[in-house]
Amino acid sequence: MVEYLDEIFESAGVIATPAQMEQIGNDIKDGLEMEREMYYNSVVSRTPEKCVKCQNLESEIERLKEEIGAYRDSVKKRRNATEVWIEDGDVRYL
Ligand SMILES: [Zn+2]
Repeated sequence: MVEYLDEIFESAGVIATPAQMEQIGNDIKDGLEMEREMYYNSVVSRTPEKCVKCQNLESEIERLKEEIGAYRDSVKKRRNATEVWIEDGDVRYL
């Protein structure tokens, strides 16, 4: 690390003592490690957050599922059926 810094500092015209360079090198290393850790955490251990659009669509799907389930149950009751499904746009039951 210090070797690269030496060149970087030189090309930027910055003069630093070996101790300062060591310090800066360690700070940069820590910073990079922290960034890598944060990236790792965000990718691996956190489930991605859903946007409002997806959340709305999911609740819409849940609502429709419940509606279909309720409709299916009412057909089962009325027709004394065990299976209810839609085929070519018609309600079928067994
Ligand atoms: Zn989304």
